[in-house]
Amino acid sequence: MMVIQRTLSIIKPDATRRNLIGKINAKIESAGLRIIAQKMLRLTKEQASAFYEVHAERSFYEDLCNNMIRGPVVVQVLEGENAISAYRDVMGATNPASAAPGSIRHEFGESIDLNSVHGSDSVDTAQKEIAFFFSQIEIL
Ligand code: ADP
Ligand code: MG
Repeated sequence: MMVIQRTLSIIKPDATRRNLIGKINAKIESAGLRIIAQKMLRLTKEQASAFYEVHAERSFYEDLCNNMIRGPVVVQVLEGENAISAYRDVMGATNPASAAPGSIRHEFGESIDLNSVHGSDSVDTAQKEIAFFFSQIEIL
């Protein structure tokens, strides 16, 4: 079923450091997803830890949070048909080595922990993650 959804995207510090914001946004827009909110910021350790709290028990949690605060991130709200799964497809698999050709992670990801982008994984998490970064008046 086709339904208009919103999802949260983060262009991670490994990607902003390599000047890839424009190239990643081009892939998002080419896929028919619309960037309806966008801002650059630098996360604190506390913010990164809270955002990724769902992974708190995982072995990679500490490294993940540290990687997210190494530099600026771009947080975005994307809108389009089935935007949540559509953006997961544009991103590619978590491990760039397994990501499909043409996907962001295949083209730009350096490793599983430096994989350039985040995208929400369900309607429920999309709603929570958008509210984590954006107020109502910041979203067009
Ligand atoms: P995704 O970002 O594809 O939704 P997860 O939600 O499972 O993946 O994990 C969140 C992030 O944690 C990943 O994007 C990646 O940066 C990091 N990560 C996940 N699994 C590993 C792992 N096995 N080793 C190192 N980092 C990992
Ligand atoms: Mg995830």
